[in-house]
Parts: sequence; C-alpha cells; structure tokens
Amino acid sequence: PRTTDEILTTDLHLVQSFADLNALKQSGARTAIVAAEGAMVRDSDGNELIDGIGGLWCVNVGHGRREIIEAITEQLQTLDFYSTFYSFTHPAAAALSAKLAELAPGSLNKVYFGNSGSVANDSAVRILHHYYNRLGQPKKRLVLSRQGAYHGSTYLSIAMTTPEYSDGWSRAEGLVHYLRKPHYWHEGDGMTEAEFLDALMEDMRSRIETLGAENIACFVAEPIMGAGGVIVPPKGYHKRALEICRDYEIKYISDEVVTAFGRLGHFFASEAVFDIQPDIINTAKGLTSGYQPLSATIMSDEIHEVISGPGGSFLHGMTYSGHPAAAAAGLANIALMERDEIPQKAQVTGKLFEETLKGLEDIEIVGEVRGSHFMIGIELVKDKATKTLFDPDLNIGMMVAQKAQSKGLIARPLGHILILSPTLIMTPELIARTGAILRESILEVMASLKAA
Ligand code: PLP
Repeated sequence: PRTTDEILTTDLHLVQSFADLNALKQSGARTAIVAAEGAMVRDSDGNELIDGIGGLWCVNVGHGRREIIEAITEQLQTLDFYSTFYSFTHPAAAALSAKLAELAPGSLNKVYFGNSGSVANDSAVRILHHYYNRLGQPKKRLVLSRQGAYHGSTYLSIAMTTPEYSDGWSRAEGLVHYLRKPHYWHEGDGMTEAEFLDALMEDMRSRIETLGAENIACFVAEPIMGAGGVIVPPKGYHKRALEICRDYEIKYISDEVVTAFGRLGHFFASEAVFDIQPDIINTAKGLTSGYQPLSATIMSDEIHEVISGPGGSFLHGMTYSGHPAAAAAGLANIALMERDEIPQKAQVTGKLFEETLKGLEDIEIVGEVRGSHFMIGIELVKDKATKTLFDPDLNIGMMVAQKAQSKGLIARPLGHILILSPTLIMTPELIARTGAILRESILEVMASLKAA
C-alpha cells in the first residue's frame, strides 16, 4: 500500500469534484480512502471511519459484498461488453429491465439505461421532447423544477438543478423554470403547514398559467430533496403536484436517484411513501449500491408506446447504456436486498437513525434535523429562535465535518448543513456511535466559537 504522501502527490493531477479547488490547492488537505468493508471505510493513515455518507448516498448494501463482486467478475468473464444499441441486447440488461419493471409502480414498465443520475435526468427530458414531437406538440418543451433541487451536472441536468449552481450562464436558454422550495421550517412565514402547502400549489398553478401549459413538458422533483439540504415537503405535496400535472397534461418525473433502493425503507419511495405514480422514475446510485455506474430512466407504457410508434429512430443513447458488468451488479444488488430484506429492515434501523439524530435538536446551534430514515440533514444555525444563519465564510458545516472525521465519522458538509446518508446496514451500535460523535463534534465547535 502506498503512503498518504505518495497518494496525494500523484493525486495532484486529479481534479476533485464539487470542491473549492483553490482552497484545496492551498491546504492540500485531502483524505485518501484505500479500503472499505461493511459500514466502514479505511483511510491511508489506517483510520477506520464510519461511512456516514454511504460513498455518496449510494453504497446501500454496504461495502465489500462478495455476491455483487462475484456477479460482476463472472459477467466480465462471460461477456465483457456489448451495448444495447440498434437491435442488440444481452441477458443482464434484459433481466435487469424486467426486474425494474416488476419493482417500479404501476405502468412504469420500460427502462432506458444510462450511466449516471445526471444522464437519467437528461434522458427523461429528451424522451419527453421526443414524445411531444411525435404527438404533434413540439412546443411542449419547458421543464418545471424547484429552487433547491439537485438533478445532476451535465449541461441539461445542472440547468434542472437550483439556479445557485450556475455561474450566471444561460440556464439552457430559459428551458427550465423554478418553483418555490417546499421547505416549511424556513419558508413557512407564520403559516400552518397546510397553508404553506396551499401557497406552494397556488404558485405552481400560477406559474403554469403564466408559462402556458401548452409550452410545458414536465415537472421534475426529488421525493425528498437531497443535496438541497434534505428537504421533506409538506404532507400531501407530491400528490397535489401530480394532480396539477394531470390537470394541465404535464408529465411528472420523480428523481429517485437517492430515495430508491431502500434508503427510505422501500425499493421506490414515489408510491410506497408518497402515494404517487409518476410518469417517469429516474434512479441510479443504490441501483447497484455504487459497485458499478448505472442509471435507469423508467417510463410508463404510455410514453413508450408513443416514442416507439411510427416516425423513425429515437436518436439517443450512450455507449455504456446497460453495460453488462453494471447490469450484473444491479441484478446481484437487488437479489441481495431481497434475500436479506434490506429495505424492510431499513424501515426499522432507518427510523432509529432518524430518531437518534433528531435527538441532536436540543443543542443550541442545531436548528432543524430533518429527513427520513437513512437520509438526514442537520441544519446548524447561529440563533435558533430567529433562524439566523452563521456567516457563510465561517464554513460551519466543514468545521463540524472535520471534527467528526477526526473522531471516526465521515459526514458531508453542505454550507451550514451536514448530510448523513450511510449504508443501510448500520447496526444500532454504529447508529449510537454516529449520534455520539456528531453531538461531541457540534458541542466542541460551538465551544470553540464561543471562546473565539
Ligand atoms: N439526482 C439526484 C437527486 C442526485 O442526488 C444526484 C447526485 O447526487 C443526481 C441526480 C446526479 O447523479 P449522478 O451524480 O450519478 O450524475
């Protein structure tokens, strides 16, 4: 094994994602993860750390699962690669598409594979543009997204993402429009939650009326916003939003890149948790538990019927759509989840995780702990009564995350919010340890701020 210094020296060529590249250049502070097993990872200095972010919201079944590794190896030995273009298919992609059709709600029976969540979201919009062209409604192109959303980093999916991610460029030429962020705690303004929901729905209707439903292709929403700070919308939000979409003939895309495959206790959250049957579900991450890059755009029979009707080819696809090794990983991952009842068990352990972290709300600078099961956000505030935030330059989230890492836990800082999205195999002991490390870390940072 290489030493930390050797790894970081060669890593001078690696451009980190989602990083302050200048700050990294100045500090050189990076962590090389060299091994992983179960719910834990090991860094190059030999520290064992709880993987509190599950790789990046994705290693749902835990690290080092032989069943998945062997399925990938076996697949590569039999058929290393073939694509699913033109008329070609292969057993792994075919079997996985059938399995996803079985698991996805209602009439969502047709699967388009890609290699990332970003690509899944891009593909969904392209599919819908193609769909409306075929129906003779080429003007139906606009996308309704939301403030706070994260849908990916390709040019289209970053445009579907909340505008803060842009550097002021064109937002894909006005293609995407942003509805209000459904965050009651910050945006509720003296309303009851039910009144806030009414206001959000009113906003949605009036935006549709202004833009013209005849110009709008789709509404896209994460069941629980992830990278936007783990925002659980008011109860009934998705159902009401879907009704509005139906009223105006706008397709509903549910971005389940994070929320699927057990993170909220079910294979898919749209129907099981939020009681909706969207027109398209996009997923990635937990689909293979991160063992291979793979995404799926799962569309309704009705959409597929139109895009496969007379009128020529649908010219869209990636070389690696349905890569055999990735499809084999997906199949083995789902088989493992079914055999060990991982989503069902996550209903219990995930609830314990949620309750343990909600217990941190008694700390003076913890404003709101929110989320559900294994998807939790902890918002740190300077003043809880007034919900005043810390000076962003303080980087409070990073301060706590670094402290937590020094105590054996990886948490993800997002400005003043800490994100926890661990593997779904966290034991009650590891859950308790996670809670204890977070409490100590927040209290120590708080004390250092008071002393300063
Ligand atoms: N959609 C959601 C909800 C996500 O959280 C992410 C990534 O975190 C994406 C899409 C993009 O997925 P990927 O990073 O695989 O492109």
